[in-house]
Amino acid sequence: MRILLVEDEAEFATWLTRAMAQSGFVVDWVHEARLVAKCLSATRYDALILDLGLPDRDGHDVLAELRRADVRLPILILTARDSLIERVSTLHEGADDFLAKPFEVPELEARLIALIRRARGSDHPRFACGPLTYDAATRQFKLGEQALSLSPREHAVLRALIQRSGEPLSKREILERVFSDEADVQPEAIEVLIHRLRKRLESCDVRIVTLRGLGYVLEAQARR
Ligand code: CA
Repeated sequence: MRILLVEDEAEFATWLTRAMAQSGFVVDWVHEARLVAKCLSATRYDALILDLGLPDRDGHDVLAELRRADVRLPILILTARDSLIERVSTLHEGADDFLAKPFEVPELEARLIALIRRARGSDHPRFACGPLTYDAATRQFKLGEQALSLSPREHAVLRALIQRSGEPLSKREILERVFSDEADVQPEAIEVLIHRLRKRLESCDVRIVTLRGLGYVLEAQARR
């Protein structure tokens, strides 16, 4: 899952980005509110974490503006200001959830996963495509009841696909999600990973379909 973090405290942001990477989140961090719109237009995020106390603009304004612009991305507010009034006002302004600092990273992650799931219109506890399921809490893929063992990169590609199940992901989007920390990765690396995943999924009714010009999409095949 790709998250945009808007937070001005560098030390905290770096720590959080690293901690969340351990759980498979790809976090892009910006330190100023003015960079938010640019990021959102360049990259498709699954959720936004917004700090209220920012140097250039108040987080409340950023939140209100995003919602006025009909940005439907799940937004979780992070702030040191923990008061009932603050909490209620951000929810009225369109925040989906609220977490006061200090917090535990697993709680933040669990809340984000719940928000993303809700935004995808499903209360199902796992991501699913036909017999293939992904449990975001345990980070485990299963084919039916059978655990599917994958290399870390295969895992990351398949996770990106199942989280967008039904919607194509371009090679560039997959690259950003799987190799976010590395420069100079060629798109061919994605082709190799897709090829391997197709082999792994050969025996089941899930296919990675190539949509020319759009990318890859995970689809469940109807049983005959
Ligand atoms: Ca701050």
